[in-house]
Amino acid sequence: MKRQLKIALLLGAALAVSTLAVSVILAVSNTRQLHDRSYWVTHTQDVIHGLDNVVLLVTSAESGLRGYLLTGEPRYLEPYSAVTDSVGVALAGLQVLVADNPQQQARFAELRQRVQGRLETLSELAESRRAAGYDPARELLLIDQGKQEMEGLREVVGEMIVDERALLTSHGRNYERSYQTALISGGLSGALALTVIAAYLLLLRSNLLQLDAANQTIAEQAERLRTTLASIGDAVISVDCEAAVTNMNAVAETLTGWTLADALGQPLAQVFRIINETSRQPVASPAIRALREGVIVGLANHTLLIARDGVERHIDDSAAPIRCKDGEIVGCVLVFRDIGERRQAEMRLERTANELREIAAQLSEADLRKNNFLAMLAHELRNPLAPISNALRTVQRLPENPTSVLAAAAVMERQVRQVVRLVDDLLDISRISHGKIELRRESVALAQIIQMAVETSQPLLDAARHQLIVALPSTPVWLDADPLRLAQSFSNLLNNACKYSEPGGRIELTVSGAGKQVLVSIKDSGIGIAADRLGSIFELFTQVDQSQERSHGGLGIGLTLVQQLVGLHGGTVRAYSAGPGLGSEFVVSLPVIAEHSALAPVALASIETPIETRVEAGIAPAAATGRRILVVDDNEDSAASLAMLLDLNGNQTAMAHDGLEALRQVDSFRPAVVLLDLGLPKLNGYEVARRIRAQPGGERIVLVALTGWGQEDDLRKTREAGFDQHLVKPANYAVLMAYLESLPADGVAG
Ligand code: ADP
Repeated sequence: MKRQLKIALLLGAALAVSTLAVSVILAVSNTRQLHDRSYWVTHTQDVIHGLDNVVLLVTSAESGLRGYLLTGEPRYLEPYSAVTDSVGVALAGLQVLVADNPQQQARFAELRQRVQGRLETLSELAESRRAAGYDPARELLLIDQGKQEMEGLREVVGEMIVDERALLTSHGRNYERSYQTALISGGLSGALALTVIAAYLLLLRSNLLQLDAANQTIAEQAERLRTTLASIGDAVISVDCEAAVTNMNAVAETLTGWTLADALGQPLAQVFRIINETSRQPVASPAIRALREGVIVGLANHTLLIARDGVERHIDDSAAPIRCKDGEIVGCVLVFRDIGERRQAEMRLERTANELREIAAQLSEADLRKNNFLAMLAHELRNPLAPISNALRTVQRLPENPTSVLAAAAVMERQVRQVVRLVDDLLDISRISHGKIELRRESVALAQIIQMAVETSQPLLDAARHQLIVALPSTPVWLDADPLRLAQSFSNLLNNACKYSEPGGRIELTVSGAGKQVLVSIKDSGIGIAADRLGSIFELFTQVDQSQERSHGGLGIGLTLVQQLVGLHGGTVRAYSAGPGLGSEFVVSLPVIAEHSALAPVALASIETPIETRVEAGIAPAAATGRRILVVDDNEDSAASLAMLLDLNGNQTAMAHDGLEALRQVDSFRPAVVLLDLGLPKLNGYEVARRIRAQPGGERIVLVALTGWGQEDDLRKTREAGFDQHLVKPANYAVLMAYLESLPADGVAG
């Protein structure tokens, strides 16, 4: 539209100029023609006038001569002489005037001749008057020659004037025609020029109106753009083709720290300084590429914008070239935004992903260890089964041979104890990892704990004929500790020292002090530990020897247990070894009680060793006899074998295999002690216990729970149901006996 208007304007201007030019050319040509025609009119008039003048002059010369002829006075000759000279001049002028007309030229020659002839005649008359006086002159005057000559002259002049008049008429007509032509063409071309100029002015006016409207639109668009830029959340900077800043919005001012006034005309690289967040090297601005290559340059990653005040922000940016109508790049617009929060989130996500990957790796490592552990567990549990079944067969074959039966019983007891220890360790690990183990702390002498540990490990020490050297400080060291748990830890370390040393090895247990800490070192001369395994042996299910044919047994939980139990006491345990074959040393560090001197050391013999420890240590309880005991177990073999053992010890027993039967037996048999399995058909053990307790006299019956569940939570539940004791299956018979022994003689719980 605008282009068409422009073309129309140009054409209009060209037309107006051409029309004006044509008018001017016409006017000039007409004027020139008019001037020519007017010249010819004047020229013809001049010829006529010249001819008249010649006649007049000749007539004047004649008149002047007549005065001389009459008077003879020479003064009368003066006009004559003056005219004679003028005639020559007039003839010369006339000759020039007629030079363009050959016909008149011929007549002019005749005219000249006649004029000269006349003037000669007049000259003869004057000569005659001067020489001979008036009369001869009069004679000459009267012969009529003069009249003829004058008529001949007038005739020639008349012809010439007739021709000139005809010419004058023709020239006049021509002049008139030219005048008319000039008038009409001047008027027409003027009118045309005026029309064209008026049309052009109209066109110009409409163009100006359109220009006004366009300017208005541009102003509105500029305002809209300004408002848009001000209101969008992204920062925008525009630059010219030299990459100098031409505009920026408020967000860009905030992010760059430059005000628009300061930034205007500045190189973009100065206002928009970006670096890579990792390498911290300057990054090429996308605007420069957009300007150079004329393409939209997409988002850059990991870019930091350094503001004028040095503040760094994560941004992403893009740039697009600005092109004018003909496609030439006239600048570029750069859009960027602060992605700090997004980047933080991304980095957090990255960290979380890494952590998750690490956890996954740990889990798969743990899974691997667990699988190894299960394989080992199967192996470790199967190991004792062979000797037990062999011993059983021995008993079946030689039931009457007391020596064989006792030997078989000893084998079975050792193997069962082995299995029970494994299961106990596993349960301990589980309790610790669930935070369910509670230390029964008391002020206790370290020496006493070590003695308990040594006693526990004694069978292994003896079996392998190891030499144990114990070095204790002369003054007693007191700890605030759970003696059982610490003894268990030291015993584990001693057992390992036994297991991982060739028979006949040397084991040193040394206690030394270090300020508020006491160090217990257990050092052996055994197989040692490779340096790269020292860090990992405390992890659950970790064993240095992973081979199928491991010769040492175990599940890889002993050291974990030691570390956790010692940790619960606020201590640490560390392993040292100079390498394979060079022995190992485990050092336990424990906090000591500062104020313990007031407490007298307790003699070992007087310590009340808990039942299990006593049993483990081989202190056999006296056989409990003469009680009425009800054995409740849905496993009939289990119930029968236990009842049989109790009977052998002089007790009276009855059996029940479900909850309801148990209640009936309580009614009829009136037991002093009920050994109650918890998972029973018809009525579970908890409910049976509750109902027994609710019966008259039921509170006097000793209720012992026998269950496979030994967790803290299970203990709490049996306590709440009214049980007096909680023993974990398979119940160690000696432990049970020791418990029964601890009851008052009438069998009623105290
Ligand atoms: P287990 O003895 O049942 O395998 P532990 O957790 O007690 O499990 O020990 C983990 C591993 O540490 C053992 O398998 C063994 O390889 C190594 N280890 C422990 N104590 C010693 C020691 N005194 N000498 C050499 N190696 C030992």
